[in-house]
Amino acid sequence: MKMLHGRFSLPDKPVEECGLFGIYGPGLDVARLTYYGLYALQHRGQESAGIAVGDGKTIQLQKDMGLVSEVFNHKKLSAFNGCLAVGHVRYSTTGASLPVNAQPLVFRYARGMLGLGHNGNLTNIAELRSRLASTGSVFQSTTDSEVIVNLIARYSQNSLVEAIMKCMIDIKGGYSLLMLTEKSLIAVRDPHGIRPLCLGRLGEAHVIASESCALDTVGAEAVRDVEPGEIIIINEGGLASRQALSPCRRAHCIFEYIYFARADSRMDGFNVSRVRREMGRQLAREYPVEADLVIAVPDSGTTAARGYSDVSGIPFEEGLMKNRYIGRTFIQPSQNVRDLGVRLKLNPIRDVLAGKRVVMVDDSIVRGTTSGKIVAMLRECGVKEVHFCLSSPPVIRSCYYGIDTSNEDELIAARKPVEEIRRLIDADGLYYLSLDGLLGVFGDRRDYFCTACFSGDYPVEMPRLQDGGKYVLESC
Ligand code: AMP
Repeated sequence: MKMLHGRFSLPDKPVEECGLFGIYGPGLDVARLTYYGLYALQHRGQESAGIAVGDGKTIQLQKDMGLVSEVFNHKKLSAFNGCLAVGHVRYSTTGASLPVNAQPLVFRYARGMLGLGHNGNLTNIAELRSRLASTGSVFQSTTDSEVIVNLIARYSQNSLVEAIMKCMIDIKGGYSLLMLTEKSLIAVRDPHGIRPLCLGRLGEAHVIASESCALDTVGAEAVRDVEPGEIIIINEGGLASRQALSPCRRAHCIFEYIYFARADSRMDGFNVSRVRREMGRQLAREYPVEADLVIAVPDSGTTAARGYSDVSGIPFEEGLMKNRYIGRTFIQPSQNVRDLGVRLKLNPIRDVLAGKRVVMVDDSIVRGTTSGKIVAMLRECGVKEVHFCLSSPPVIRSCYYGIDTSNEDELIAARKPVEEIRRLIDADGLYYLSLDGLLGVFGDRRDYFCTACFSGDYPVEMPRLQDGGKYVLESC
């Protein structure tokens, strides 16, 4: 965080794409189960990983920069002792990639210890941080999460649940939270349900995770989604639920279904894989193309590509091979590393592609950089025609609720019409799924989603922007 003329400037864009896993399970190896749960959520964050364990008297914490498998080993996991745990993985973007921002955060306050893992972004963070700082709060990190903990501590004359409820009245934006005290596990979801969170059962134990794929991994049975505006408290008294804020317009993040979530997850009543396949089918209905093959940009485009193939009858083939050992964040921001990065990550299968007219399906174009390079690689292999189909509408607005879709000035579709993008990436055709077609996939629940990145219809107030479009905090 750097000082700018007596003001604090935050990173240029939201940086809180994360995964959460929590368990209340006396008698179980909660740390190891959390480790496995985080492993299943690794796609949600590869910058840092952390686990906090409560044993009834205290909270132990281990966290560091790196993948789950790099941060933890058998020895570290065996050092944990307790009956409840919260784990967190954090996504890397160009924002504040600092050890101090790794989570969970663990604090001591008037009522004992409190740990927090957070997925999402608050939109009124500047105002809240100013308010807290002007009355004496100090901050160690640039995360929204620290503001949440500060607010809860401020309200500590109330019970913890009441303090959380008061905090929920103050904070705006998209958030799923997992908290722990020495004795209790607490889950919270924002009143629009923007970020996902679900509840499962493992024998007598309760499990909460960002995605149901993490429940499956630890052998837990999915019970339900955490409701928008709900607080769930689990401790030796069992599970209690409180509808803290009255549910308002549902606005589940549609980009979770398009790109971010794992295809085997089920969120808010929809299986991600089925949704993606249907998006691909709809794409084929909207844009029938004459071609020899349907290929995908793996893995994000694979399921939709199969859907396109279902409806068009054009055979699906594996045309691009992905190096499985390269994570989502491997391609670094600098241009020369990015040039190499795409080739390290994806390699076209020349024998499948040469001389063919190809429909290539991906989930989205954000900046347009990767997409142009993939088309160029296909041309080098002798592909005759590249028809590039996207299973999402053009991304034209920034996300302020926790998906890293870049600043608006970096979003290619915010600046250029489709025909110009097509020319820039050198495709023979460029086809985006319509917003209506996308929402149609969700049937009578088509109004339950946040589509702000495609439509500019923001369900929650946006952060206050200062000159130059940066988030700026008033001087504290
Ligand atoms: P580009 O052509 O540079 O915009 O890159 C498009 C690729 O980025 C697609 O394959 C998407 O799957 C992927 N993508 C979409 N959203 C994100 C995101 N929030 N973070 C990283 N990659 C993304």
